[in-house]
Amino acid sequence: MSVLTSPVSIAVENEKNPWVAAAVRFDEAASRLRLDDGMCQVLRTPTKEITVNIPVQLDDGRLEVFTGYRVQHSLARGPAKGGIRFAPDVTIDEVRALASWMTWKCAVVNIPFGGGKGGVICDPNLMSDSELEKLTRRYTAEIIDFIGPERDVPAPDVNTNEKIMAWIMDTYSMHARHTVTAVVTGKPLSLGGSRGRPEATGRGCMMVTLKALERLGIPPELCRVVIQGFGNVGGMAARLMADRGFKIISIIEYDGAVYNPQGLNIAELELHRKVTGSITGFSGGEDLDRQEAMFLDCDVLLPAATENVITSSNANRLRCKILCEGANGPTTPLADEILADKKIFVIPDILANAGGVTVSYFEWVQDRQGYFWNEQLVNQRLREIMEESFDAVLHYADTHGVNNRIAAYMLALDRVASAIKLRGIYA
Ligand code: GLU
Repeated sequence: MSVLTSPVSIAVENEKNPWVAAAVRFDEAASRLRLDDGMCQVLRTPTKEITVNIPVQLDDGRLEVFTGYRVQHSLARGPAKGGIRFAPDVTIDEVRALASWMTWKCAVVNIPFGGGKGGVICDPNLMSDSELEKLTRRYTAEIIDFIGPERDVPAPDVNTNEKIMAWIMDTYSMHARHTVTAVVTGKPLSLGGSRGRPEATGRGCMMVTLKALERLGIPPELCRVVIQGFGNVGGMAARLMADRGFKIISIIEYDGAVYNPQGLNIAELELHRKVTGSITGFSGGEDLDRQEAMFLDCDVLLPAATENVITSSNANRLRCKILCEGANGPTTPLADEILADKKIFVIPDILANAGGVTVSYFEWVQDRQGYFWNEQLVNQRLREIMEESFDAVLHYADTHGVNNRIAAYMLALDRVASAIKLRGIYA
């Protein structure tokens, strides 16, 4: 077993390393499940890590080499599944952690996938469309032997979208000499995408939040929500929650925050951002300091941007009752302890944001069947899975006397360990 058996043992300088964060939670769940050391080692260690250096000819004629990764953390329950992110601060430790979180996430919602993640170190904001296309196609070509509907199925993540998924699908298909839609999910609807996929992560967040509100006895109409991030996850969650009667009292973005205690009009805020390029200066609310908005008194705080926004240095200032983790890894292990002391009800990332990969699973099933479902069916099946998974996590929390995050890890580790035991170790 690793020495990281308790969050207290993390040095503060390691607090924001996602692989350390993943290891701490893993170790606690594994020791509570009394998994033996050998099994722990198998479960903890990524199965495959691929590093590729990708030359791209930029628009001005210069050549630049970008580094990319694809980590397959586990294939025990099915093909690896997980997004690809394009960002300047991507590291192998981050991709490893995100890949392991995909393994646990797919196990929590009980869909037949392992976990994987990809990342390319680049700044998409500084790149043209044609540069991004070249980068995407060459990255796909470099990892082509490792991906495929039965091996590893990528999807969108930070700074990647359905257009990029279409390029991956096309590159893979050109090499295969036939169209393979199921190699990637999060595609445009007209190329084998699923109805409901763009909204799925935000919708899943809303579904589990409704379950948490029911448990805490808070009516949705009285629920005040603060959302950090107004992209695919935060923006969709805001729209869907507002439609459901929640009051979205603040939205926080990288360049500022906007606040209205009566509830923001989300459609108007989206329009304002489209016109001005920012959520700030919105006439339907007042501007607020983006750091301070996180600490507003509210029922639900929904971080839906990046890792490490709730840390040991700010967790004690949170004033939410429920923390619904739309992002992957928004809370550090040191912050977990503070949240527990404050009795904040945490819906951990590997449950809260699993709606995205669940509808990715539906997309993969539909592509393989060549038969597409209507949106109502997608949403109904998503709801069944999110609600069942919430109940399963809470059951672990109640029966083992652990917090919701450790309960979700325990449920996931149990499922993956039992798959490994049943398969046996091939030698
Ligand atoms: N990137 C999303 C996540 O972190 C979706 C992954 C997928 O659909 O495969 O869950």
